[in-house]
Amino acid sequence: MKLRFAPYTLKFKRPFSIAHGSRDSTPVVFTRLEHNGMFGYGEASMPPYLGENHDTVLGFLSKAEKIIQQFSDPNEIEIILSEIDKIEKGNIAAKASVDIALHDLVGKIKNKSYHEVFGADKQKNLFTAYTIPIDEPEGIFDRVNEAKDYKLLKVKLGSADDKKIIQEIRNHTDKKIIVDANEGWNDKYFALEMAHWLSERNVLFIEQPMPKENMDDTAWLTSQSPIPIIADEAVQRFSDLEKVKGVYSGINIKLMKCTGLNEAHKMILQARKYGMKIMIGCMSETSCGVSAAAQLAPLVDWIDLDGPLLIKEDYFDGVKFSEGKIILNDLPGIGVTPTSSLSFS
Ligand code: MG
Repeated sequence: MKLRFAPYTLKFKRPFSIAHGSRDSTPVVFTRLEHNGMFGYGEASMPPYLGENHDTVLGFLSKAEKIIQQFSDPNEIEIILSEIDKIEKGNIAAKASVDIALHDLVGKIKNKSYHEVFGADKQKNLFTAYTIPIDEPEGIFDRVNEAKDYKLLKVKLGSADDKKIIQEIRNHTDKKIIVDANEGWNDKYFALEMAHWLSERNVLFIEQPMPKENMDDTAWLTSQSPIPIIADEAVQRFSDLEKVKGVYSGINIKLMKCTGLNEAHKMILQARKYGMKIMIGCMSETSCGVSAAAQLAPLVDWIDLDGPLLIKEDYFDGVKFSEGKIILNDLPGIGVTPTSSLSFS
């Protein structure tokens, strides 16, 4: 097998203002695995706060390239990915880009879509959340209007304006809301008061209300809260599941946090054994990363895969969005086709 890769920068339609700072673009690296004239595609997307960037990903993939060359059978997914994982610690998004390309390639060899390989029912209604990018109550009416196709709104909280923002949204719509506090609340009594207040305003759950280190306070909050408390920053890879069991009601899985589809699928099966709720999310990604994650969407409780809707230029055709739902196709692998703007020169 041969591995190729290329760095790109995705521009956002609207700059993001979040707890980790304001951004108008994000670096990504696309990968391509080749075997017997067939191609599998992958993507690494690196939000700045996880420590990866173009240089680290390109450096890691140069090492991965040498390992990939030693394998002649792409079907040896477990062995190949465990060798890739051993190259260096961290580099999660870089590892995910290899994992995604490998699944895409193997799906094409089997001539099966990966949702079919996972036994996931694509006929289910796959409603995705749509992020309302706000940091102040002004302009909310326009943002709510832009999200008119979407049944589930995601709102980032964690500032002094939290109640004002939710109240202002409620002045315009009674759609269900999910809230991501991004570790923004430090006091467990305040967090519980917010959970009750949000629950009374038809908020479905709260993602990462408190800092990930505050395990005891979070376990207390989860036991008292009228709505589920979901781990995002607190859970990255499979090995973190044991730690958050009994502390959170559920987990947010992202391919860029957990090294890709292979581990994400195992996390879903294990979290179900623990009786936990599951959400699948994404970083700022093109239709490549999001179509990969969408292969697992029928297996989870909530879907937050709006990445391609928020960027100016996509580099792939993949899953479609219609009436607030993700529509999976039956193309083999992860179901993507690169656009003419993508090149691995
Ligand atoms: Mg989050």
